[in-house]
Amino acid sequence: MRTGIEVEEARRLVLEGAAPLPAEVVATADALGRILAAPVTSGRTLPPADCSAMDGYALRADDLASASRAAPQRLRLAFEVPAGGRAPRPLGRGEAARIFTGAALPPGADSIVMQEDAEAEGSEVAFFAAPALGEHVRTAGEDVRAGEEVLSAGTRLGPAQLGVLASLGRSVVRVHRRPRVAILSGGDELVEPDEDVAGGRIVASNAYSLAAQCAEAGALATNLGIARDTREDLERGLGAGLGADLLVSSAGVSVGDHDHVRPVLEKLGCRLVFWGVQMKPGFPLTFGRFEDGRGPLVFGLPGNPVSAMVTFELFVRPLLLRLGGRRVLTRPSVRAVLGETLRKKPGRLHFVRVTLARDGERLVATSTGNQSSGVLRSMALAQGLLVFPAGASELAAGALAEVMVLDADVLAAPEPG
Ligand code: AMP
Ligand code: MG
Repeated sequence: MRTGIEVEEARRLVLEGAAPLPAEVVATADALGRILAAPVTSGRTLPPADCSAMDGYALRADDLASASRAAPQRLRLAFEVPAGGRAPRPLGRGEAARIFTGAALPPGADSIVMQEDAEAEGSEVAFFAAPALGEHVRTAGEDVRAGEEVLSAGTRLGPAQLGVLASLGRSVVRVHRRPRVAILSGGDELVEPDEDVAGGRIVASNAYSLAAQCAEAGALATNLGIARDTREDLERGLGAGLGADLLVSSAGVSVGDHDHVRPVLEKLGCRLVFWGVQMKPGFPLTFGRFEDGRGPLVFGLPGNPVSAMVTFELFVRPLLLRLGGRRVLTRPSVRAVLGETLRKKPGRLHFVRVTLARDGERLVATSTGNQSSGVLRSMALAQGLLVFPAGASELAAGALAEVMVLDADVLAAPEPG
């Protein structure tokens, strides 16, 4: 087991060998946010034929060389093509067909004049404008050609992608299975939110924030509840999560007398890959795996609520995204101007919870207050994690720093009013 490693090294060890989970087939209607497991190749050409982009008249452009408001030109009204219908016959010279948006062009027609530039007069139509060749025509295949790859593997399915799948006739889609995560909270002091907190008890809030972080990363979380600080109870609790893809416990990974998570994991057959990452918050982070994939990947997160969330953000989230088939594993990062001077002891990389405020073209990062790893409000207020480099001891007000953006809304300009 490695100890006291750097953040980048820990991230490498976590992601090493992690591959997307196998595919499953789900209804396209239920696939929002899912990740395509295979490329989607179209069996169709869309639109299937040249068709009208307007309500108006289909005709041959060279039959209407010079129509204008001042000098309208007339063509014979031949027939009507409703949306989804077919022309009864090809369009002849000197003829126009009434046509509606999405209807296929009659053979012989090459252009559309929109109805605003025409007026029906019994068996004729007067035109007040001459179309350019091909005007208001959607050409066959301008959206998708049969045989073409339309969506690549690893694509996250959003509203537009679901619409594309439907238009290709795909009512089901192959996506990566979502990672299943089992979450265990450990500690004699812990209770559920609706229980009594008298006598120094605290709510096992980590189960809530971590399950929500899992859901945001596309995973399915199960709460295994609370284990007491005994080896037996921890063995029972951790043992209950061995069927998951990922087992995440919080607390009990420090060096206290009641911190049994690491020995119990080893007893269960887990090989600890590392303990201790040079970061703050979150130093006691533990990661392990079972040989030959005969068990879940395992994180022992620190118990302090901020440490648990920050280590999740930095290590668990990218792993879940990778398992879920995502290609991009990191948050967007920005350079922000420091709104105040920050100080620390050199040595560990710090992740400072900050708000981000727009100031013209700049973003200003300001600490969310008390940065103790027990102060969960510092996380609740945070829009980003400012990266305070390991070797640095001061970042001066006005200097630029890198911030991982947790809440992308802050990048948008505020609404006026
Ligand atoms: P430990 O790692 O067990 O020393 O816990 C460190 C701190 O985190 C202690 O103050 C615990 O009370 C707190 N803590 C542990 N587990 C949780 C949890 N599930 N939810 C909220 N706080 C916790
Ligand atoms: Mg504890």
